[in-house]
Amino acid sequence: MREHIATLESLGATAFPVKTLAELEMADGLVIPGGESTTISKLLVNFGLMDAVRKFAEHKPVLGTCAGLILLSNRVEGALADQQLIGGLPVAVERNAYGGQTHSFEAEVVIAGEAERVAFIRAPRILDAGDAEVIAELNGEPVAIKAGNLMGASFHPEISGGKRLHRVFLELIEKMQAG
Ligand code: GLN
Repeated sequence: MREHIATLESLGATAFPVKTLAELEMADGLVIPGGESTTISKLLVNFGLMDAVRKFAEHKPVLGTCAGLILLSNRVEGALADQQLIGGLPVAVERNAYGGQTHSFEAEVVIAGEAERVAFIRAPRILDAGDAEVIAELNGEPVAIKAGNLMGASFHPEISGGKRLHRVFLELIEKMQAG
């Protein structure tokens, strides 16, 4: 989360952590970071934010990376039976499909026309991108997608200092604010 905030601020945006409803209401856009999607689900429920974040994601810009992509996807293979999702992205993903923690790797991907090194850490695979626009691919498979106000990426752009995905996200926020 800290890296996402630093990346967004380095691009000129004001960024802050969201832990309460009041903070969510102040935000023009939201990043759901990587981590463990099952834990993030539980935290969202326990903090009483799940429904509010679902409503936010219905019409405001949200970027999900790695675990965040899982939470934003409409179909998740390998989700826990009681795992709650935010949903909204018309895609199917499979949890942990790029291997376990020891199989984490970095790779260069082209994100909306610019090459960048990013990290894949127990990353979800996008099995079916549906109608979403593919904005990055790895070996011919989609690894970042955009559909309306929502964006998702299998990888962590922030760990290797990548800024391209965040720049595309800030452009989306600006475009949506301009109506
Ligand atoms: N495998 C994790 C999950 O299912 C995601 C990993 C990550 O965010 N780096 O939530």
